[in-house]
Amino acid sequence: MRAKLVAGNWKMHGGLSDNAKLLADVVAGSSGLTRAQQAVCVPFPYLGQASDLLDGTRIAWGAQNLSEHAKGAYTGEVSASMLREFGCTYVIVGHSERRALYGEDSDTVAAKYKAALDAGLRPILCVGETLAQREAGETERVVDEQLGAVTKRFGVGVLGGGVIAYEPVWAIGTGKTATPEQAQAVHAHIRRQIGSADAGVAKNVQILYGGSVKAANAGELFEMPDIDGGLIGGASLIAAEFVSICRAAD
Ligand code: PEP
Repeated sequence: MRAKLVAGNWKMHGGLSDNAKLLADVVAGSSGLTRAQQAVCVPFPYLGQASDLLDGTRIAWGAQNLSEHAKGAYTGEVSASMLREFGCTYVIVGHSERRALYGEDSDTVAAKYKAALDAGLRPILCVGETLAQREAGETERVVDEQLGAVTKRFGVGVLGGGVIAYEPVWAIGTGKTATPEQAQAVHAHIRRQIGSADAGVAKNVQILYGGSVKAANAGELFEMPDIDGGLIGGASLIAAEFVSICRAAD
């Protein structure tokens, strides 16, 4: 059976003293949890702090982006091996904000996915459609294209080393959550597509849902058979909310 994973995406939020309190509260609130996997993906400057405060706890940490290159003259970029040095387990790749605001296309996202994997990180590959694409009936085509950019270039087996996050763009930070049935339909489609190439990978790969998940709706989403946890933005900044979501997954 697949473990559930709840990963926080802090985006560009935080500060040393706020982070210390948030992480201490999340650690304390998570003490009774035994089954759900937990992680926080923090801004690069706070990776050292996350490592100091979370080492030895059940909460893993990671980053929100990385370079597709191993090293070199890429001013402002951060490589996968640097993330490993800070003890990261996870790194988010292809978040819709990076695709939309920083022009990351699916080929670049695929290269980042592979760079993360090669360094021993677990990439969290975000896929999802805009509202216009959903209304045009293009949801499946869009997620197939985004996943296909990885699998056509590197083979479906690479999905076994990472995590997929289905994040409908219209539900991110908007307060509009996909219904459990809407999310389940896309998760099942993704699993079917992977299964047509490799049944073992499809059975084991964790597919998270992301998009305005909060304590009040996490339980019904996580009950769906193909939803293996959540990628949590806004609610991951509030310890009590994040812990409640983790509890729902546990
Ligand atoms: C996200 O940033 O990945 C996300 C899902 O954000 P929110 O939970 O705030 O919608």
